[in-house]
Amino acid sequence: MPDIIQLLPDHVANQIAAGEVVQRPASVVKELLENAIDAGATTIKLIVKEGGKTLIQIVDDGLGMSVTDARLSFERHATSKINCAEDLFQLDTKGFRGEALASIAAIAHVEMNTRSAGDEVGTLIKIEGSKMLSQEVTVTPKGTSVSVKNLFFNIPARRKFLKSNQVELRHITDEFHRVALAHPSVHFYFYNNNSELFNLPSTNLKKRVVHIFGIKTKEKLVPVEEETQVVKISGFICKPEYAKKSRGEQFFFVNNRFIKSPYLHHAVMASFEGLLRPDTSPGYFLYLKVDPSSIDINIHPTKTEIKFDDEHTLYAILKSTIKHSLGQFNVSPVLDFDKDQNLDTPYVLSNMQVQQPGITIDPGYNPFKESGFENGTKKSFPRQSPGDWESMYVGLESKVGKGEDFSSVHFESDTITGSIFEEEQELVGIGATTFQLRRKYIVTTIKSGMLVIDQGRAHQRVLYEKFLKSITVKETLSQQLLFPISFIFSKTELAILKEIKGSLTSLGFAFGPFTQDELQITGIPQLINESEIGIILDQLISDYQLEINGSGFTQSEVLSKALCKSLAVKTGEILDNESQQALVNALFACKETNRSPFNKLIYVTVTDRDIENKFI
Ligand code: ADP
Ligand code: MG
Repeated sequence: MPDIIQLLPDHVANQIAAGEVVQRPASVVKELLENAIDAGATTIKLIVKEGGKTLIQIVDDGLGMSVTDARLSFERHATSKINCAEDLFQLDTKGFRGEALASIAAIAHVEMNTRSAGDEVGTLIKIEGSKMLSQEVTVTPKGTSVSVKNLFFNIPARRKFLKSNQVELRHITDEFHRVALAHPSVHFYFYNNNSELFNLPSTNLKKRVVHIFGIKTKEKLVPVEEETQVVKISGFICKPEYAKKSRGEQFFFVNNRFIKSPYLHHAVMASFEGLLRPDTSPGYFLYLKVDPSSIDINIHPTKTEIKFDDEHTLYAILKSTIKHSLGQFNVSPVLDFDKDQNLDTPYVLSNMQVQQPGITIDPGYNPFKESGFENGTKKSFPRQSPGDWESMYVGLESKVGKGEDFSSVHFESDTITGSIFEEEQELVGIGATTFQLRRKYIVTTIKSGMLVIDQGRAHQRVLYEKFLKSITVKETLSQQLLFPISFIFSKTELAILKEIKGSLTSLGFAFGPFTQDELQITGIPQLINESEIGIILDQLISDYQLEINGSGFTQSEVLSKALCKSLAVKTGEILDNESQQALVNALFACKETNRSPFNKLIYVTVTDRDIENKFI
């Protein structure tokens, strides 16, 4: 048999390696930022165009490279960072594999300008798909600038799999945050499509966190500090009341390298035990310094996990350190257990005359009379606004004028067309076809038996279809605010809000101008209470961030889902009889009645036969 094994040519090997190192534009950003940090840069500029698909450029003022080094840096396994295997256990640089530049050059158009401090002139290298196009002498400032254009130009399949520019930009921003948080003393700039996203001057850690995540972060942070023989811990945790449903602002750095560690995350969660609302987790920025020989940095280029020699000790130290901080800064309520807040008299009331409570009765009250919406109206079932207020609802006339049937998804109306209850006349005993069970289910009779409906899920479905319709039809009721409310958001949050502004406007939000870190809300959807806007927008942003990445859902679907989750009635809320019926009718006017937007069963049927069978 003839020999069939041969060595792969370099450019093929590089392309294969690139598949591992470079998954998306953000991977290139990570590698190049880390190279700039390793080169001791004090100022680093990141320039991105179209989510990094057309351009990623990183300019640093670090060590730069000699002519020979510049050339060699694009060879595979060429690195200045380790010499021998032992060095792997004493790493103090980000890079060590010597693969990044070779991989990037295999799948993109790369240009590098570099000059070291000792050299008069610098080197310009152009390389495309591993092919060296030119090497010239050039005049360039000290440091290195690498620009990467047309990523994956020679791997169309990969290029096709890239997400929208916005999603890719978000991944890039995540990587940028990680590096910027690990190195607060380095000045970072970040430009996207010629506009400045971040300008983070050299500073301390606290200010860096605030610069990145917005001024409102300041009041959330509690410092953490501990030094033992095994580990030095520093950084910040966020106060428990700011915990979020999404796991956004959670960062571990070990020896200034961003890592993910479910185990250490668990330690943080354990120290917050009893302080968090259900399903929320706190933000944290935690920096661990350990002996480099006690950790094993994953050999895989894109993995962010590392192995610790003594994980258990680390867990225990971290947990008790955070507990200590929470206690020391009076965040945890331990010290307040003896205090009964009910005994505190508000200042304004303390000088008031005490009045004898009186009992008044409504002589006209008849419990059997069919009542209006006066009693027990829930927040999610808004009252009709009286007289003057109508002028505050823009868009109302146009809708009503056209005589559109939008009662089908509205609670105020019970004249539902196409309701399954139309034929159920024989069952209607005035206002008594529904009742609420365990403040969770609505039970209603039908011809063949009864339905047990999950109130929360049913309401989610109703709201979901309503919102989806609003976004597509683009005409909805907006409640103008008498006094616009300003909210402070981080740049990332503002970017997301800008992205979804169109859909939010369709839902009834109205916005003033977007400024650096502030946003004015001038109008809100009718269903939302003014006092809830902040919470709802926060929730909306984090749900959107969580869902839109790769979920395959459209923006309108994701937003409608997020909003209906926030606004739907919850288990435990009491609904009066009229609201129950309105909800049931609205549910059966929906396009889909069986499943909630989160694919949960909305109701079960119990037939007469089921009941009769029980009595046999
Ligand atoms: P690694 O970072 O693992 O060593 P890279 O392929 O990323 O591998 O880089 C190869 C080498 O090129 C580095 O070891 C370093 O000597 C040099 N290099 C890369 N980027 C820069 C930079 N921005 N400034 C100075 N030297 C650099
Ligand atoms: Mg590197």
